[in-house]
Order: sequence, then structure tokens, then C-alpha cells
Amino acid sequence: CGIIGIVGHEEVADRLVDGLKRMEYRGYDSAGVCTLSDNQLIRRRAEGKLANLVKELAGNPAHGTVGIAHTRWATHGAPTTSNAHPHATGEVALVHNGIIENFRALREELVARGRVFESETDTEVVAHLVSEQVEAGNSPEDAVRAVLPRLRGAFALAIAFRQHPDLLIGARLGSPLVVGYGDGETYLGSDALALAPLTQKISYLEEGDWVVLTRDGARVYDSHNNPVTREVTTSGASA
Ligand code: GLU
Repeated sequence: CGIIGIVGHEEVADRLVDGLKRMEYRGYDSAGVCTLSDNQLIRRRAEGKLANLVKELAGNPAHGTVGIAHTRWATHGAPTTSNAHPHATGEVALVHNGIIENFRALREELVARGRVFESETDTEVVAHLVSEQVEAGNSPEDAVRAVLPRLRGAFALAIAFRQHPDLLIGARLGSPLVVGYGDGETYLGSDALALAPLTQKISYLEEGDWVVLTRDGARVYDSHNNPVTREVTTSGASA
């Protein structure tokens, strides 16, 4: 029930887990991270407490300076490792808080096009929809722009792209998501508290917003895909 993402210039795995710990109070049943290194998506997930994910990462480190992480409160699909986020294809990995209400119809459509699912979640349809766009040669921005209007329900999303190791895309509708601004780094988080050790400079995304994060900053778009400015505030959340 928490999301964090970092486009950084130093290793991110420990910092991502740290952010998840700061959101433990929200409750969760499983957790996972995905980092990007040498154009590979490196995914680690575990059932139960964050200590299990920490153990998994100790045995199988996930290197990289860009990554996303998630604590899950299962709504669709049992709290197992294979249902834990991030959900991934060969090209994209994503984490999601909320519920994709039209996931059954989307899943049927995707299966009919030959996509193979590896979880029981509502979330995995989004990974496949974005991946289809990327596999067709579209940019990450175009892929997300094409997919968002198809989703019904509530979501906060953070998406990583295998072939674009310098960016993350976030989106929100009905679930909170904030952008954090660091020194040559940018962040996504479910709340300012999760990002408090990283930065106090926060902007709150509005309903329907989506955002492209790079090391240099964030480009925010509204639900009509118009570029918009969201005020950067200094959060009172303490590290
Ligand atoms: N509906 C998604 C799932 O069950 C996300 C749940 C959450 O918000 O953690 O996997």
C-alpha cells in the first residue's frame, strides 16, 4: 500500500527499502523492488514482512541507480510472491496502488492478443498494455498516454522502462502520488513521509496527472496531456 521510485545517481535498492519502511504503517502483505542496470530490469519480491525482502536482496542484490518499489495490500489475488509487485514484462516493470476495475475485460483482450499472464492481480494488465505500446516502438511517454484513458478505477502507478534507464513515469487517479526533487535526482512517493530522508521539496500531483521523471527534473501533464506546473512545497515531514 505504498509506492516509491527514484531516478538517482547512486545505488537505489537500500533507499527504496528505506522508503517502504516509512510506509509500513499503512499496512501490507508483501513487497518488492525493481531496479534498472545495464538495460536489465532486476526484480526482487517477497511475501510477508519487509524483513523477507531485505533477506532476499541480501542474497540477490539489485544494483542500479533507478528503481521502483512497493508494499502491497492485496485486493485481487492472494498475497503471494508471484502476485507481489512490481509486475513486469520483458520491457516494463510497474507498481500500482488501487484497483483497476475493468481489469477482467482488459485481461481477456490481452490474452486474445497472445499475452501471457503470471499473476492473478488486476495490476498486471497495465504492465502488458504499456509493454505492447513500447514493443510497437512507441516512446515511454506515448505508451503511457495511450494506456491511461483505458484504465477505470483508482490508481497510483510508477513505471520503469528497460530501454530507458534514465526515466520513470508516474500517474495518479484516486490514489495519492507525490513528486520529490533532489540534487540531480527525482523521486516518486505515495506521501511526503516516504521521501523525507531524500528531500523536503515536494509537489502533489492532482487527479489525472501523470509525470515523467528524469535526473534533471519532472515534466507533469494533466489528464488532457497538457503540460502543467504543480507548485513545489517544502514538506514538514521529518527524516
Ligand atoms: N489491486 C492491486 C493488487 O491487488 C494493488 C493493491 C495495493 O494497492 O497495494 O495487487
